[in-house]
Amino acid sequence: MKVFKFGGASINSFERIKNTGRIINSYKGEKLLIIISAMGKTTNALEKVVDAFFEGRKEDALALFEKVKESHLNLVKYLFTLHWQAAENNLKDFFTEVEWLLHDKPVKGYDYYYDQVVCSGELMSTSLISNYLNEIGINNKWIDVRDIVRTDDNFRDAYIDWDFTSHKIKTEIEPLFDHTDIVITQGFIGATDENESTTLGREGSDFSAAIFANIMEAESQTIWKDVEAVMSADPKEFPQAAVLHELSYKEVIEMAYYGAQVIHPKTIKPLQNKNIPLHVKCFLKPELAGTVISSKAVHNLPPVIVLKKNQVLMQLSTKDYSFVEEKPMELLHKMFAKIKLQPNLSQNGAISLLCCFDDKTEKLEKLALDASEIFDVQIEKNLTLLTIRHYNDEQIASFTNGKTIVLEQKTPDTIQVLMR
Ligand code: ASP
Ligand code: MG
Repeated sequence: MKVFKFGGASINSFERIKNTGRIINSYKGEKLLIIISAMGKTTNALEKVVDAFFEGRKEDALALFEKVKESHLNLVKYLFTLHWQAAENNLKDFFTEVEWLLHDKPVKGYDYYYDQVVCSGELMSTSLISNYLNEIGINNKWIDVRDIVRTDDNFRDAYIDWDFTSHKIKTEIEPLFDHTDIVITQGFIGATDENESTTLGREGSDFSAAIFANIMEAESQTIWKDVEAVMSADPKEFPQAAVLHELSYKEVIEMAYYGAQVIHPKTIKPLQNKNIPLHVKCFLKPELAGTVISSKAVHNLPPVIVLKKNQVLMQLSTKDYSFVEEKPMELLHKMFAKIKLQPNLSQNGAISLLCCFDDKTEKLEKLALDASEIFDVQIEKNLTLLTIRHYNDEQIASFTNGKTIVLEQKTPDTIQVLMR
């Protein structure tokens, strides 16, 4: 059994959906568990619906949702001649689920509504594709993953209940393959024990796919993207970016940790734990090999470069000149945990601590306020964090040329430079 994950870009038009159908068809005879993201930019569009609803702009929320509905219904017109009625009816069930909520007034927290609305993106896309596969004669079974993937109620960043989910997959998903070769379901979403929808954090579908792969002990997982393979850097920023055909789990987890937008950072662990190879392949050129990520160590990698913009440096200095030791450090880490903010880089001095964060303004303000009880807090914004793995001095010089280095950290594998 293989697990496939198709990203939103693979189904954002009539041609792309047909193309995805062709790719699936080319695996005829194999058992596939397929996870599909929301179509194109649907998740972003749904976020705007939630914002309007939560700000009490009900008419705007409904109008914005109307656009999302149209984009899905339009595709039905182009894709179907036989099963259009089923396709439309299935979509309308999800429309109703959302609209029913939008007609209410918000009485719970933002994150709760976010999940109830945003989850519809993957429900709509997968139901559309499942019906389309039926249309072109590819037998498949569509599953609402909210009946399978159980999470806690930490909305927008829900935590998986592995025991429950594992039991459900084994008893309800695995037996489906006795009757069908293809099971289609959603990534990124789940549900609580009270049947409230939850989401796992943006881009979470890769991780969902890895959960299924782990529990079902899949032979491999493939993420179908619009890039040829994993690259050593973002080619838009660095023309020297190279294709990486082979990577180790370790390398990818490091890259994701430093902010490379390759694969959701949580994806690797479930795969590594069961030694399941992860393929990254291009849906536009499926004949290309792409990248394979496995336990095999890969040597002689080119420099792998990750650039994070919009960084904030926070300098925390003890007010009374006492050392930054256990007590203040402990208090700080508690604050980080409470606010759910992790530094991308930190460095200790005698009486001060430097921390670099993504510019999450609201959280940073909260942290600055809390920390100001024990520290003098200084903030500098608009910095860039450059990370190079397998670096050499020449590259560092060329990338930092003309910039002021605010902070630098180096291990034999990795250098990180925070620049102004
Ligand atoms: N549709 C979700 C997002 O755009 C999840 C995903 O695609 O992984 O973040
Ligand atoms: Mg994605």
